[in-house]
Amino acid sequence: MKEIVIISGKGGTGKTSITASLAVLGKDKVVVADCDVDAADMHLLMKPDFAQSEEFFSGELAIINQEDCIQCGKCAEVCRFDAIPFTNNTYIVDELSCEGCGYCSRVCPTDTIMNIQQNVGHWYVSGIKTGSKMVHAKLAIGADNSGKLVAQVKNEAKKIAEEGDYDYIIVDGSPGVGCPVVSSLSGANYVVLVTEPTVSGLHDLKRVYELVHKFNLKAGCIINKFDLI
Ligand code: SF4
Ligand code: SF4
Repeated sequence: MKEIVIISGKGGTGKTSITASLAVLGKDKVVVADCDVDAADMHLLMKPDFAQSEEFFSGELAIINQEDCIQCGKCAEVCRFDAIPFTNNTYIVDELSCEGCGYCSRVCPTDTIMNIQQNVGHWYVSGIKTGSKMVHAKLAIGADNSGKLVAQVKNEAKKIAEEGDYDYIIVDGSPGVGCPVVSSLSGANYVVLVTEPTVSGLHDLKRVYELVHKFNLKAGCIINKFDLI
């Protein structure tokens, strides 16, 4: 079983359409992994049935039990992310600002702050129109840790491919060169770089090629929309 990862330095090059085309050509011998979890859109092309849905937890979030809070303000003082504003005479954790570092709970004199795991999205295993399976995900709005979710999607796809009679995993990677892309590339047997004949397309292709080169991965390039110029 081989793993082919399709990436592009920038968005809008047609990476997902090419990934879907390869998946259709491979029919029921190909497991699809949509690792573009920040802006997943493979489901628009592959018609998944969302047969299995799982919550994805990553990172922590502080929660204040108001009953035991004596409003000393120590938690707000130590929070370097200003995530505990004093609003309406109450200290409340701002979920979008909290980084889950746990410092506030260490200084709280009444031990009334708990850290809980954050639900930052969902991942799915679906039957798709090719007769095969697809693993895909959706990150919650404003959530980070998409690199971890990418790893989860890839691991599930690998498990399905190994347990079933599949020849390939085809991975739709994230655009750019950040953590989710690095996570997409892990374990790849071959990388397809998709670009377009524009100045920004070439600029971003060079950046992503450097990354692929550092990982010492075999790669080829598709110049999509070649008739733009
Ligand atoms: S866990 Fe850290 S970031 Fe979150 S509210 Fe407490 S001190 Fe601030
Ligand atoms: S440190 Fe504890 S008791 Fe003090 S304001 Fe924060 S939550 Fe309330």
